[in-house]
Amino acid sequence: MQYHYIGNASVPTESGRTIPVLDPSDGQAFDELQRGSPQDIDLAVRSARECQDSVWSKLSAAERGRLLMRLSGSVLQHADELTAIEQRDCGKPTRQARADVLALARYFEFYAGACDKLHGETLPYQQGYSALTWREPHGVTGHIVPWNYPMQILGRSVGAALAAGNTCVVKPSEDACLSVLRVARLATEAGFPAGAFNVVTGLGHEVGEALARHPGVDHLSFTGSPGVGTLIQQAAAERHCPVTLELGGKSPQIVFADADLDAAVPAIVNAIVQNAGQTCSAGSRVLIDSLIYEPLLERLGQAFEALRVGPAAMDLDLGPLIRASQQQRVWDFLSDAQVAGIAVVAQGQIVEDAPDSGFYQAPTLLRDVPPEHRLAQEEIFGPVLCAMPFHDEDHAVQLANGTAYGLVAGLWTRDGARQLRLARRLRCGQVFINNYGAGGGVELPFGGVKSSGHGREKGFEALYGFTTLKTVAIRHG
Ligand code: NAD
Repeated sequence: MQYHYIGNASVPTESGRTIPVLDPSDGQAFDELQRGSPQDIDLAVRSARECQDSVWSKLSAAERGRLLMRLSGSVLQHADELTAIEQRDCGKPTRQARADVLALARYFEFYAGACDKLHGETLPYQQGYSALTWREPHGVTGHIVPWNYPMQILGRSVGAALAAGNTCVVKPSEDACLSVLRVARLATEAGFPAGAFNVVTGLGHEVGEALARHPGVDHLSFTGSPGVGTLIQQAAAERHCPVTLELGGKSPQIVFADADLDAAVPAIVNAIVQNAGQTCSAGSRVLIDSLIYEPLLERLGQAFEALRVGPAAMDLDLGPLIRASQQQRVWDFLSDAQVAGIAVVAQGQIVEDAPDSGFYQAPTLLRDVPPEHRLAQEEIFGPVLCAMPFHDEDHAVQLANGTAYGLVAGLWTRDGARQLRLARRLRCGQVFINNYGAGGGVELPFGGVKSSGHGREKGFEALYGFTTLKTVAIRHG
């Protein structure tokens, strides 16, 4: 049985209700979570506030940094255990689960080092005055975390918030809580004071909403679907609470005829099959120069056919999807493709050892997807790559920018002038040229425009979002 983690202690929910924890590889329940209530959120927020006022705000930036560095080391020491937890809870192949653990440790390490480099400025002002700015923490920050990368998103969000001097209340997804709860306990062992790092589990519309509405929360960060992002922003607007939203994407990978296809093909495939396509920055559309459309589709098709899907512990190219409803969502998109006459170029294979009760989906490459079709517009969040041709740069940019999203774009070309020209014209938060970093880059600011959200996480930039600026003007004559 898993409990909330509040004030450095395991706490049962006052509701007395629980949620089963399923293994996506076989669909079977193997543990239970607390189905928290708004009262549990209130307890956690009060614990975070008390810690903020009594202990956390009195630590120096260097002391916060030392704690985060110790936590980073502890994550590495427990890498095997955390990998196994994540593999079973989220259905991640071993290599992916381990990569997530290493990224978590790296986030804590990065923000440990950043703590005492965050500072304000002195400003030129009127004669007889000195003016300066201080970067101050918001206070208590709320973090609503999705199920696709619980450890990585915890690291980038909570790591930066703690580094900036906030205390945290985390609401992980009901589908992926176990690693988050384990990391919170590791934080206690690393020396974090009671209330600095709290975790409340439960359903989104119960505890997630209670966290978003709680008047004691001074900043909210949310990663997930645009629909829920809207609800969070509405709840925050009621009390003028700042929000960072990361709401996914429909990111294009644009391939020109002069591209190095030997480098591009494996990167394009990985950008959509990594984590079984359940990646906000997945490269889910491939826009191909019409000069190389057929030959590139053939190469991509061969790569897709070689992909194998199976139980997480088999450590194949793809594991299962997170849950049955996500599998159904992908099936619905694929059945729409069939109705619209959209052709399948190639599919990978689900291995025979995969239990029927697991949530498996073969990676699928579709061709000539009409740009206005929902397959080309909406986030499928599964291993489905939509290919479409373009005939020149303007057409490529029009297709790339032609969705409601704007998170990441990949650009494959050897032409340096074109690289810069297009990077400027693409409406998104990150452009990768001759590489693609689905979710990668602890050091690189990350976030979107349009329906992909606003605010930036990762990198040093995240620390600005987790602080507020105070201006001080002193008249001394
Ligand atoms: P979701 O947006 O419902 O859930 C994300 C988080 O928000 C979870 O912790 C959930 O408990 C919480 N939540 C849900 N309803 C809430 C509410 N009313 N108030 C406050 N918190 C709430 O995402 P999902 O249902 O798990 O997945 C649906 C789709 O969302 C996916 O298919 C995918 O397209 C998208 N998604 C995107 C990301 C991303 O990284 N951007 C991550 C997960 C899901």
